[in-house]
Amino acid sequence: MKVDRRSFLSFVIGGAAGTALSPLPWKLMDDSSIWSQMWPWTPVPPDGEVVYEDSTCSLCPGGCGITVRKIDNRAVKIEGKPGHPVNDGGICILGLSGLQMLYGPTRIKAPMKRMGERGAGKWQKISWDEALGMLTEKLTAIREREEAHTVAAIAGSDQGTVPALLARFMAAFGSPNFIRTPSYQDTDELAVGTLFGEAGRTGFDLENADYILSFGSGIADGWGSPVRMIKACSLWKEKRVPVVQVDPRLSNSAAKATRWVPITPGTEADLALGIAAVMIAKNLVGSGAVSGLGGIKNTLLTDYAPEKVSLSTGVSVEAIVEIAKDFARANRPLALCGRGKAQSPESLRETAAVYLLNGLTGNVNQEGGMWAIAPADYIQWPEVARDKAASAGLRQPRFDGAGSGQYANARHLLQRLPDGLNGNGPYPIQVLMVADANPCHSLHDAAAFKAALDKIPFIVSFSSFNDETAAMADLLLPDHVYLERYADVPVAAGLPSQTIGLSKPVVSPQFNTRHLGETLINLAQAVGGSVAESFPWKNYETCLQETLADKWDVLMQKGVWVDDDFATAGSSLQMAALDTPAVEIEGDAGTFPLLLMPYDSIRISSGYIGDTPFMIKTVADTVIKGKDGFVEINPQTAGEMGLSEGDLATLTTPRGEAPVRVHLFEGIKPGVIAMAKGLGHTAYDGFLADKGINVNELIGPVEDPSSGLDAAWGIRAKLAKA
Ligand code: SF4
Repeated sequence: MKVDRRSFLSFVIGGAAGTALSPLPWKLMDDSSIWSQMWPWTPVPPDGEVVYEDSTCSLCPGGCGITVRKIDNRAVKIEGKPGHPVNDGGICILGLSGLQMLYGPTRIKAPMKRMGERGAGKWQKISWDEALGMLTEKLTAIREREEAHTVAAIAGSDQGTVPALLARFMAAFGSPNFIRTPSYQDTDELAVGTLFGEAGRTGFDLENADYILSFGSGIADGWGSPVRMIKACSLWKEKRVPVVQVDPRLSNSAAKATRWVPITPGTEADLALGIAAVMIAKNLVGSGAVSGLGGIKNTLLTDYAPEKVSLSTGVSVEAIVEIAKDFARANRPLALCGRGKAQSPESLRETAAVYLLNGLTGNVNQEGGMWAIAPADYIQWPEVARDKAASAGLRQPRFDGAGSGQYANARHLLQRLPDGLNGNGPYPIQVLMVADANPCHSLHDAAAFKAALDKIPFIVSFSSFNDETAAMADLLLPDHVYLERYADVPVAAGLPSQTIGLSKPVVSPQFNTRHLGETLINLAQAVGGSVAESFPWKNYETCLQETLADKWDVLMQKGVWVDDDFATAGSSLQMAALDTPAVEIEGDAGTFPLLLMPYDSIRISSGYIGDTPFMIKTVADTVIKGKDGFVEINPQTAGEMGLSEGDLATLTTPRGEAPVRVHLFEGIKPGVIAMAKGLGHTAYDGFLADKGINVNELIGPVEDPSSGLDAAWGIRAKLAKA
């Protein structure tokens, strides 16, 4: 059956994001589910016994509960699980189309070794024994030479037992180089540590707040736990909670808000500090939650007076004062930050400024406010055993420099890898292992990252999918997908609770894949010695069961474990963190007169996982049309440049250039242009590959001087008619 995008879009009334903001009608859910299966590879369900299995979706950090309808061992539909504390029956478009991850053409179906040139796509299927034997031989030889530190691992997460096993493998092997992909989690942890003086993360009591002030957070575009956010938006509408969205463009979130505040991109911290200054000047500060305010009070009052802030942000003095008064006078106001889906780090200055607003309300660690939550501590394994080779390797510095010197405040700095590989690193990297991450597409300056991989002699990918980074590997050891395996799913995405979900194997593995946890245990045992000693478990399931201990039974019965009585990470904000420098945007304004900013859409998956075929069909033809990607531009700016709707143009930044089509959009500030994230794939399948431009290839990393985290939110650019 041919699926035509136009007819599909008219069918999905209002699009998935729009419909999801009101309770999704069950009939439409049914129809969408059917549509998500009408693809050539989808198995036709035979007649058979119908059963329902509960599990947890782990396609994003949201951690929604799901119910999978099966006919015999064939999954035919995924729904949100009613009553689940995260999503209560709701589901997003990615979760809904998860079956396409299971049965779709992008799966890597067996272990494979590279044949021919790297990246040429020529592979030979091999057995698991041969694949693990190849890797073990390389790793053992490196260890024997006491060069264990030259092995690195990139992971898409450090939450849960599977990433913890990979981190443990690296430590037992003797490498300090377990590196997580960048995320807003980096900045959030840094801000909590700096402001509260204790390790932790934030949680937001969205459901009990009575005023929302969002600094670019995609509250209706996939921020935090996306389905929870969609439900919160509906709740706010029902309860008439004012929602103010500060955003340089009229995003879906801005369109759904009570008030949209267009702002010059990159000046969000100024606005937050300007609002704080008004609150202080007008004596609208709550008591108790902020210490050290005296030291910065005068700076705030003089440097961030509304008149000054208005000049830098483009927000009027009246608007700044009005928002400050409304925010301060609400009973339970809440300020949010983390742009778009919060998939990238931000400057400590901006995050600290927004968290300061929460502190000024006096509503920290209170109902309806921002919570500082101590780290989850359920993974309690014995220290790894260290032999001579491990001790020698662990004495070496980290390859990315995180945790020492000028980068003492950062835990992971993946964006520094290309520079290190190109000659500026402390040593060469001989083996790279990649799990649940696709840095060749998702990292800023992705092309430079991909090119630098040439310097690594052996790359192993554990990806379940044929993504851009797997395409550059020498050995593929494919993981099961989430519907085929057990895994704990700690949900940290802004939830004011300690919540763990359990993914269960709702169907048998479809292909010759292996659980990554199992692969790591096998690998450790094959390497032997103290590495094997550190992995005493018979298999991953035993490890998971032992680790979850008394939570296991609850998780097996209910699918989710929730602790509302969690430990907090301090209660009073220290204001020292505000004394941090701003992040400068890359590019010279003379050569590059425009500001290019990427934006997130709930219809486009922009992290490790690419869009499903179903999702890509829902993307509007002002974002991609055929293979062409569009750049949004204000009609006034376009007019000045002689550009009209649909024109072909060349977009150039200091990092690269790309052919784009022009889309005139009144909802973006003059001088600013925007492109959707998550497009321009070269791998995956024919439904996703070669559609649009990967905006990450046009933007370079920009280090936050406070931490070294890549806090780039855009780049300067120019546009010329082609
Ligand atoms: S929001 Fe995330 S976890 Fe929830 S259904 Fe969608 S992809 Fe899955």
